[in-house]
This record gives sequence, structure tokens and C-alpha cells, in this order.
Amino acid sequence: MTLDFIAASCADDYDPNSMNVDKARHFIRQYLSPIQAQESLALRSSLGRILATDILSPCNVPNHDNSAMDGYAFNGDDIAADTTTSLKIVGTAFAGKVFDGKVERGQCVRIMTGAVMPDATDSVIPQEQAQVDGEKIMFGAGARRGQHRRFAGEDLKLGQVVLPTGHLIRPADLGLVASLGICEVKVYRKLRVAFFSTGDELSSIGQQLESGQVYDSNRYTIYGMLARLGVEIIDMGVVRDDPVLLEQALVNASESADVVITSGGVSVGEADYMKELLNKRGQVVFWKIAMKPGRPLAYGKIGNAHYFGLPGNPVSVMVTFYQFVRDALLNLMGQPHPRPIPLFSAICDDEIRKAPGRTEFQRGVLHQVNDDWHVKLTGNQGSGVLSSMSEANCFVVLDEACGNIAAGALVQVQLLEGLI
Ligand code: AMP
Ligand code: MG
Repeated sequence: MTLDFIAASCADDYDPNSMNVDKARHFIRQYLSPIQAQESLALRSSLGRILATDILSPCNVPNHDNSAMDGYAFNGDDIAADTTTSLKIVGTAFAGKVFDGKVERGQCVRIMTGAVMPDATDSVIPQEQAQVDGEKIMFGAGARRGQHRRFAGEDLKLGQVVLPTGHLIRPADLGLVASLGICEVKVYRKLRVAFFSTGDELSSIGQQLESGQVYDSNRYTIYGMLARLGVEIIDMGVVRDDPVLLEQALVNASESADVVITSGGVSVGEADYMKELLNKRGQVVFWKIAMKPGRPLAYGKIGNAHYFGLPGNPVSVMVTFYQFVRDALLNLMGQPHPRPIPLFSAICDDEIRKAPGRTEFQRGVLHQVNDDWHVKLTGNQGSGVLSSMSEANCFVVLDEACGNIAAGALVQVQLLEGLI
């Protein structure tokens, strides 16, 4: 499917109130294909990267049947029915030091947690439940054959897929892969993402603000969000609202990156200007999305690069990044089905006025009151009020259909911790 076709089908949805959030997400998804290039990395360096091949277990984990407790290993046939069992201690098995003697009927071996079960034993009596008398132990009725024995391969079986292609490697996975003795893993190469801010009014930090200017903050939030995703970042600075400079910047970006992100210049009044430029150099669909904040958003291709044109307002940048770009980048990075940001229910402390017909992402602070989780809004919800975003620890997600919310009602929240 080409983007011309998208433009046509998109046009069906293109009305002033426009395409809904789910549809827009689904729409973008169709045009993404994960990068293919791979590299081999030392295990530790693979943290946060995405596996390019399945990791298969080269062995059973654990390798041998072993004891789950400190105690005495014995043969289950020796358990006396309804009375005391008495066994003779004939040796000791430590973790890392196998007992390789023979265990006859009526005998047992002192065993430590993790030690290999001696031949002919299949059960362990924990030391707290055994009475020791010289070379003998005794324990009461109730022991069962096989108790407190961990089986070889109980955690992982030889040949089993331990982690699948497309898995994002987290700390537990580093340990898991290490437990198999594997020291190198194949991951997809890092996704390259270039970005720049647009606007004549923008000034760079460290400079004196002239009248009518604002500092370029979007480049810093975008940098932060991209850095957390673990992509390779190409910061291209600020580009003036000048067709020649914008065209040059877009072409340069698309030649050096897999994805190009811009902020600003897609709102009514500026969109036509960008649109013309992008139509010349690529294929871009402009949308108004039925959401607040973040209504204007562009997606398309410039050469082989994917293009996201985010709105200029600082909060809109973050909302559209988390709601659309993050998922798309994870997919391009090699995760075929990125987990959506989870939604939880919380009790809303505030009354919220909202018109049905668009999805709203308000900024909130999730906090605990006794056993319940509550959320309160962070004051002014204007799309330029970045302090409301900085103070927040969650989005309050009000779906398209919902109208006004009464204080005390349940609302859906998306935690920002772990994302930001
Ligand atoms: P635009 O989408 O270009 O019309 O911008 C919308 C609003 O966001 C305007 O008030 C801009 O000044 C502001 N804005 C645009 N880009 C940035 C930026 N990089 N940093 C801070 N504010 C911005
Ligand atoms: Mg602008």
C-alpha cells in the first residue's frame, strides 16, 4: 500500500473534528516495518536493546535435580507409614560439592540448598523437622516422597525458547541469559532518530530572549523521551520558518536517520506551508486528530525515513510522542507488538468538564488515600503549560465517548513513571 492510497482513505476521515486516536495509531502501524540490521553485543551492553534472534536454552536449568532446603536427602521408600522414620547419616552434599558415595536403604545424606541430590535419593526432610541423635536422624509421620526436590530443567529445558526475537532486554533477562552461560547476544541495530524544532520565535538556551521570543524547550523534552527509549539521537537544532531551510533540513535528516521528528509548523496557518514542502519531497498525510491536546499531527515518509510532525505546544509534543511516536519507534526498533502504556482506574478528586467526541489527556498526580488510589489534576491544563506536565506522574485519559466527570468518579490513568 502506498501513501497515496492512505491519503485517499484518510480523506474520508478528514473533517474538522477528525480521526480518532485508535484509528490514527492503527493507521500508522500499517506502514511500519522493523529494522533488519543486527549486531552482536556483549551481554551487559544488550540492556534495553531488542533481540534479533530467539535465545534457546543450551542446557537444563537447573542442570541436576537438587535440594530446595537445607536438610537430609533420602529415598522416599524409607518413609515409615504413620510412625517415626529413622535414618543413618552417611555423608554430606554441599552446593558445588557433589556427594558421590552410595546411599543404601535406611541411610541419608546431609544436604544443603542447591546441592545435587545423591543417587538413589529423591526426597529431602528439612533440618528443622529432623531430630539428630549422633549419626542418626528421626522425623515424624507426614513426609511425602519427592518433597523439597527441585527437578533438572524445572526453570528452563534444553532447547526451549527462553526469550523470543523482538523481546526488549531488561535486567531480569540479563540474569536469565547469564544463567545459561551465554555471553553474547544478537540485537537489532539502534534506530536512528533525527529531530529539529521549527519556528522564527525560538531562541536557544543560554541566549538572551528578545521580545516575542521563547526558549526552544521541545528539543529537550524530545531528547529526554528518545534517550529513555534507547535510540541513536541526531539533534539538528532549530530551523527557521523558511521553506528553503526547512526543505534542506528535512532532506538532510531523512538521509541520515530512520525517523525524522519535527515540532511546530503543523498547526492551522502553518500546515499548508509544510504540506507543500513535504509533498514535494515525500508523502505526508496531515491530520487533525480528535484529541486534546495534540490535535494537529503529521505522519508520512520522506525518502525511506518515517516522518512525525508534532505540534509546537510543549505539552502537545509530549502527549503526541507518548500516544503515537513511542509505539511506532518501539515497533521500528524491532518489537512487533509493543506493549501499550497500561491503563489503570483511579478515583478522580476533581470535577472535570469535557465534551464527548475527542480523547483528552489531562495531567494528574496519582496518590494513595488509605487503600485507594486517587488522582488529582495538576492545575492549568493548557497545552503550553509544561509545568503541569513536570508536576504530573500520570495522564488522566478521558475517552472519546465520555462527557463531564463528577468528583469521586473512576477515571483511567496512564502512569508516566518508567516512561519519562
Ligand atoms: P506552532 O505549532 O508552530 O504553531 O507552535 C504552537 C506554539 O508552540 C507556539 O506558541 C510556539 O511558540 C510554541 N512552540 C513551538 N515550538 C516550540 C519549541 N520548540 N519550544 C517551545 N515552544 C514552542
Ligand atoms: Mg511555529
